[in-house]
Order: sequence, then C-alpha cells, then structure tokens
Amino acid sequence: MSKPITDLIHHPYTPPSSFEAPQGGVYKASTVFFKDVAAMRARDWKTKAGYTYGLHGTPTTFVLEERLAALEGGSDCLLAPSGLAAISLVSLALLKTGDEVLLPDNVYGPNKALAAGELANYGITHRLYNALDPSDLAAKLSPRTRLVWIEAAGSVTMEFPDVSALASLCRERGVTCALDNTWGAGLAFRPFDLEGEGWGVDVSVHALTKYPSGGGDVLMGSVVTQDPALHLKIKLTHMRLGLGVGVDDVQAVLRSLPSMALRYAAHDQSARDLARWLSQREEIAQVLHPVLPDSPGHENWRALCGATDLAAGLFSVVFDERYGTEQVDAFCDALKLFRLGYSWGGPISLVVPYDIGLMRDASVAAWPYQGTLVRFSVGLEAVEDLRADLLQALDAL
Ligand SMILES: *Cc1c(COP(=O)(O)O)cnc(C)c1O
Repeated sequence: MSKPITDLIHHPYTPPSSFEAPQGGVYKASTVFFKDVAAMRARDWKTKAGYTYGLHGTPTTFVLEERLAALEGGSDCLLAPSGLAAISLVSLALLKTGDEVLLPDNVYGPNKALAAGELANYGITHRLYNALDPSDLAAKLSPRTRLVWIEAAGSVTMEFPDVSALASLCRERGVTCALDNTWGAGLAFRPFDLEGEGWGVDVSVHALTKYPSGGGDVLMGSVVTQDPALHLKIKLTHMRLGLGVGVDDVQAVLRSLPSMALRYAAHDQSARDLARWLSQREEIAQVLHPVLPDSPGHENWRALCGATDLAAGLFSVVFDERYGTEQVDAFCDALKLFRLGYSWGGPISLVVPYDIGLMRDASVAAWPYQGTLVRFSVGLEAVEDLRADLLQALDAL
C-alpha cells in the first residue's frame, strides 16, 4: 500500500479523452445537461454515478473529494465553503431538538459559539468535557448525547487528548464521534485507524483553509466518513442547506495537495525548533507544544503520532506573569516577520495574543497558567530569521 503523500500525487481521475496533464480540468457548472428525459428522470445525485447539478458535484469537486477521503483513510467526503461550515454541517445533520452535544473544553471557539447560538435556539443543549480526562467524558455521556466533538491538539491551548480513549467511549455508548482533524491534517495520524486497529472516529472534519490550501487565500472545509449510511445522512443535510464550493478554489486546493506533506513537515520542524528555543527563555513561563514533554497531553501525542513523529507548525507560549497584557501586546506589535492575523497553514508566520480567561470555562478544568498566552503559526520562512525576529521582539520587552 502506498503512503498518503504518494496517493495525493498519483490519484486516478478520468481525463478528457487523449488529453493528460498534471492537473485535471476546472469544470464549472450550475446546469448540467441530460441526454434525454429518461436520463433526467433517472438522475441520482446521491452517488458519484453521474452529474445532475453543479451543487451536487462536478468532475473537479469529485476529484478533490476522492483525494481527501483517501488522505484521511475514509470512503466518502463532502466539501463545505469553510472549515466552520463543515463543523456546522455535521452538528446540524446529526442533532435534533432534545439532543445534547459534548464539546472539549479547548474546542475551536466558533464550534462552541454555534452550540450556544443556533443549536441552543433549536433546543439542542451542549456541555463541555475536560479534553485531558476521558473519565469526565464518560461521566457526561447520557442517553441524550448524540454527538461528541474531539480536537487534537486544541488549536490555541494545544492540549493533546487521548483520542483512542475518547473514541472508544463513544463507540461503547453508540454515540457518533466527530474529530476536528485540522491539526493532524490526515498526516500526523490516521483518524479512522487509531492504534492501527482499523477503527477510529466516525467523522473527520478538516479546515482545508489551513494546510491543504497552504496559501492563506482559500476558505474550504471537508467532512470525511467511512460509514456509507452516516455519509448519506450528512449529505442529505448538505444538499438541503445548499452548501457549495467554488471550483476555482477547489482547483487551488488540488494544486497545493501534492506538496502538503512536505510543507507540513517543514512547518513542524521550524515550530519545534522555535518552541524548544523559547522554552529556554526566562520571559516565557510555559511553552505549549505537544512534542515537549512538559506540555499537557504530551504522552497522548506520543502514543498517537509517535509512528509518524509529526506535529503541526502551531504552538503557544504563556508569558511570565510579570509581563502585563500591554507588554505582551507590544511584543506582538514588535514582531516583523510574524504578522498579526488569524488562521494558519500558510507560508507567512502568524501571531495572535489570546485572553484565555474569556475563552475557557473554569468550571470544567482550571486553566493552570497566569500569564498572557500568545499563539504562533510558524510559516515557511528560514527558521533563523524567525528566531531573530522573536529575539528582537523579546528584547523590546
Ligand atoms: C481554522 C479552523 C477551523 C475553521 O476553518 P475556517 O475555514 O476558517 O472556517 C476549524 N477548526 C480548526 C481547528 C481551525 O483551526
């Protein structure tokens, strides 16, 4: 069996006859023609057997869906206009009035906002569980729980949960378990084959906006599943919500996918290098990066990703308490190569200061650090230049 990186490059697609080139064509359509009324009446938009309407798929979107399903080890994929749209698609497809969804306490903020907003309006409740404590999830699973979200690692506070333990609990209780796999990107571990046992999460959501796009210029999300019935359930909601993606954006992601594994490894190496260097600095109280032994959940990262030895290019630092918010803001402002901006996975390094007090519900698990947190997304610049940039900004403190 070839590796995902090879499959991303050598993936079957059907070229127009007698034309073969590295990239498949960009096929744009709302309308798709049928050859006769019988074909129109027999149309089937639920499978890839044929084309019916642009919203239900084009040759271009089908290729990306197939590649992403292969990347993550699933069998089906749906595309959504953003990572967040992919998250809301899953929650809206799988939850109804009276149900409960459980979210990790370090969950991607907008996922929690969706639960507190639309889901609450629809009579769907949510509770948070301690991402680092499977027994807390076990205690909170109830007959009303229909969906559990997992995030590995948390994208701001970087705790790495025991994904296998959380997924097993869901499996035992018959609860659908959805992983936000943006950090692992299908490269650091196989979400449908945890522990190499051929089982795993039920749904893997990926913000393609990050590493698959790699350019900081595309918004897109995917929902990969292995169970055809679960795929169909989500696909029906996808259709009813009318979610579509632009094929130029699809082509941009297809063009970036072959280099994703190389980029991911480069982001990872530079991030480790800078995280280790910062952990030696007296201005920093704690570096949060799952490869560091003193980072929360490090042993879970080792268990899940030890075989690939991969981590993303993302880490956070907690400044020593003696630096107030204004000083840390000034540190961020003093950075020149690291730009202030959200998202990650592109070539340009990014920095964001966060107020964890506003983000975390301390009733689930107390946040153990006092100082201000700053999250870095490490780009593809020369790591020496990034270190020099951090150094001059630290000196400005
Ligand atoms: C960025 C991100 C998303 C959302 O992706 P968008 O395309 O920006 O909507 C979801 N989950 C995680 C972990 C992310 O980092």
